[in-house]
Amino acid sequence: MSPERGLATEVIVVGAGLSGLQAARSLVDVGIGTVVLEARSRVGGKTLSIPNKNAAGVADLGAEWLNDATQPRVYQLAARLGLECTDVKVQGDSILQGFDGALIRHNYGEQAPLPNGEDEVVKRIKETFEEEYSKVRLETFDDFPHDGITLEEFVRSRGGGSATLATVAVWTRVMLGCEPSDLSAAYFFIYCKSQGGLMKMRSAKVQGKYVTIKTGAQSLSEGLAKSLPSGAVRLNSAVELVTQKESGVEVRTTDGSVFTGRKIILAFSTPLYSKIAFVPPLPAAKASLVGSTKLGYYTKVLATYSKPWWREKGFSGASQSFVGPAAATRDTSEDSHSSFRLTSFIAGGPGEQWAQLAPAERREGVLAQFCHMFGSNDAYQPTEYIEQQWSSEEWSLGCPCPYTPPGVLTRVGDCLIEPFGHVHCIGTETAVDWKGYMEGALESGVRGADEVFKLLR
Ligand SMILES: Cc1cc2nc3c(=O)[nH]c(=O)nc-3n(C[C@H](O)[C@H](O)[C@H](O)COP(=O)(O)OP(=O)(O)OC[C@H]3O[C@@H](n4cnc5c(N)ncnc54)[C@H](O)[C@@H]3O)c2cc1C
Repeated sequence: MSPERGLATEVIVVGAGLSGLQAARSLVDVGIGTVVLEARSRVGGKTLSIPNKNAAGVADLGAEWLNDATQPRVYQLAARLGLECTDVKVQGDSILQGFDGALIRHNYGEQAPLPNGEDEVVKRIKETFEEEYSKVRLETFDDFPHDGITLEEFVRSRGGGSATLATVAVWTRVMLGCEPSDLSAAYFFIYCKSQGGLMKMRSAKVQGKYVTIKTGAQSLSEGLAKSLPSGAVRLNSAVELVTQKESGVEVRTTDGSVFTGRKIILAFSTPLYSKIAFVPPLPAAKASLVGSTKLGYYTKVLATYSKPWWREKGFSGASQSFVGPAAATRDTSEDSHSSFRLTSFIAGGPGEQWAQLAPAERREGVLAQFCHMFGSNDAYQPTEYIEQQWSSEEWSLGCPCPYTPPGVLTRVGDCLIEPFGHVHCIGTETAVDWKGYMEGALESGVRGADEVFKLLR
């Protein structure tokens, strides 16, 4: 396609993930002309669903689960788009793979017994975390207790030993792709609080039930995109230059197309701002935030089987591991399509080490871990094996959500959602509720559209 010159609109949204598409939807709803520029050749960002190779149905390589009670925006969007949901059921025992590969079988949802009574320390740490969340004020974002230390330092200061730290590491790996020594304790508390607290978030018994979308989570993004006026979403349009003028913005994409608008909304993670040249440059505090915000290492592995062999042994397919490579595993089978699947999250330090291996060794490492945890050589016979390495994706650089090391929030945290000139900032990490999740992406899209609407009208 030849470059376009001078296409004028009122608002330019950069990024056709859920946050950007929701912002566009909200703006179009109030009669504001909007164009969405998307770098990839598809919409959806971190929602990505592909057809199963050997069966009907789809596999989610990115976001997958939503909650029918605690995540009203995303659940209602699914309902509005007429998407069919399946309840997530977990039946059978879980496995904790401890140090030296020692296996502890326990009831799903309950704390696994740990050596030297450390399960009691973990319980106390969970309570301490709950006390810390209660001090966090998500709306004001101006006071960050424990931002000067890492989460690891916080846990050690509360008597956490090696098994407690390893338990906390499973949480940070699965939730943010990083180690407890990487991130500020304050950031972790804010992140957990935004999800209603670590324990509530993980308990389907406490708050609603988790569901998946039969046609995959990407159908949320596709449905939103289709609901926009024809031509509003422009794929293969990576923005490389944003020039602010008194009356508005001029935006150039890598193919040389130029778009002008009165306002621009950036709908992606803070570290990705570094791929764009801003004229005038980013304000110093924002530039510092961009340079200090990190994305962890994260890969989703899906191994599909002709039968759910782990269930035959009374396992739910759920596991946690102190050693990896998979930090956590879940049964994500689609029974109605006879597609039986174990999905793992390979993240943080063990994930980075695993990523250095050759493809065959990586696969062997994951399947050997399944065999060890669930006790069957059937683990080595998947009918399909997929690795989705989000950290190598040019337009994601990692997932599910960025984090900040110690000191960053105190220094420049308040400019996360602060507009600069005509530029507004959304994306799941900027949400008050459910940062890092689809729910948070939608919330931020509504907030960004509202901000811009108030200025334009
Ligand atoms: C493996 C994985 C598992 C997850 N599991 C869940 C889950 O079970 N439940 C849940 O609720 N959430 C989950 N999430 C998180 C969820 O996917 C995200 O929170 C949400 O999709 C983020 O939406 P977003 O719009 O903020 O960002 P993104 O989806 O990242 O969208 C940003 C878009 O901006 C585009 N872009 C970036 N830079 C430019 C540029 N310069 N020019 C043009 N376009 C650009 C990108 O290509 C992308 O399409 C998961 C994510 C991953 C990856």
